[in-house]
Amino acid sequence: MPDKKIYAGIDIGGTNIKFGLIDSNGNILHREHRPTMAEKGAGPLLHLITNIAERLLYFAAEEDYAIKYVGVGSPGAVDYRTGRVIGPCPNIDGWQGTEIGATLSERLNTPVYVDNDANAMALAEARFGAAAGARSAICVTVGTGIGGGVIIDGRVMRGASSSAGELGHMTINFDGPKCNCGNKGCLEMYCSSQAMIDGVKAKTVKGLSPRLEEVLEGDLGNLTIKKLFAAARKGDEIAGEVIRDTAVYLGIGLSGIVNVFNPEVVVVGGGIIDGGAGFLEVVTAEIRKRAFSSAVSDLRVVKASLGNAAGFIGAGLLGDAEH
Ligand SMILES: [Zn+2]
Repeated sequence: MPDKKIYAGIDIGGTNIKFGLIDSNGNILHREHRPTMAEKGAGPLLHLITNIAERLLYFAAEEDYAIKYVGVGSPGAVDYRTGRVIGPCPNIDGWQGTEIGATLSERLNTPVYVDNDANAMALAEARFGAAAGARSAICVTVGTGIGGGVIIDGRVMRGASSSAGELGHMTINFDGPKCNCGNKGCLEMYCSSQAMIDGVKAKTVKGLSPRLEEVLEGDLGNLTIKKLFAAARKGDEIAGEVIRDTAVYLGIGLSGIVNVFNPEVVVVGGGIIDGGAGFLEVVTAEIRKRAFSSAVSDLRVVKASLGNAAGFIGAGLLGDAEH
C-alpha cells in the first residue's frame, strides 16, 4: 500500500537513541535503539543520527512505504521552524546551536522536522496514548529532570520563540536551591530522580530504616529510584515520605498549570511512574486540592501509556499537516 501514511521518528535520549517507523494508527512497524554516546560530543552524535535516519529511509523503501519526512525529538529547546537547538543541553557537550534540521535534510534530501523531546512525547500521548481523543492535554515526564509539553486543540503549543512547556523550571521556592538553568527553586529541584535520592540521603544520616536496609543490602550507595519505590511498597516510612513529598511538589506545580490551561487530561510519565506506591494518587489529590474547582471538574490525571516509544512516535508525527 504505497499511499498509506507511514512516519519515521528518532528520539535522542541521554542514554539511548530510540527510532522507528509507525503507521497512521500508531502501530509500530519497526523499532530499534542505539547508545547515544553523548560523551563523544555534538559532531559524532549528529553523524550517528544522520546514519540512523538513512537506515530508517532504507527500511521504509524496502517495504515500499512512502515517507514524506523524518521527525527528530531532541533534548534542549529547539526552534521548530529551523530545526536548530537553541537551548542549553547539559548532557551533550556542544549540542546547543546544532543545526539538526538543516544538516539532516541536506544529507537525506528529505524534509526534516525537529522539536524538543518532551513536546514530541506529548504529541504522541495526545494522538495515540493516554490522552488520545482529548483536545487539550498537559504532559509531564519525571526523570533526571522534568520535561513538559502542552497540547492545545490537538497541537503542540510552542510559544513565541519555541520555549513553551518548560514545566520543570517554574519557581516553586523563590529562595530554593540553585537550578542548572540559573534560577533558584525550580520545580525540577524538588521532583527529579536525583532530588528523590538526595531526599532519602538527608533522612537517613542517622542510619537506614530496617526495610531500606533490606532492599539496599545495607548500602545506601545501592539506592536507585526502582529500589526506593520497592522499599515504599514494602511499607518503608522514609521511602514513602520522600515519594509523597515529591508527588506533592509535582501536584503543586501542575495545579498552577491546570489553572492556566484548564486541560482535559494531565499525563504523567517518565521513569518513576511505574513505581506505584501511590505517587499518581497523591499528585492527583494535590492538583484537585489546589486548582480551581471549575478547572478540575472535567480533568483526568493519568499515567502515560506509550512508555519509552512515545518519543520516537511523537517525533514521527511532527511534520503531520496538523502540527
Ligand atoms: Zn530551572
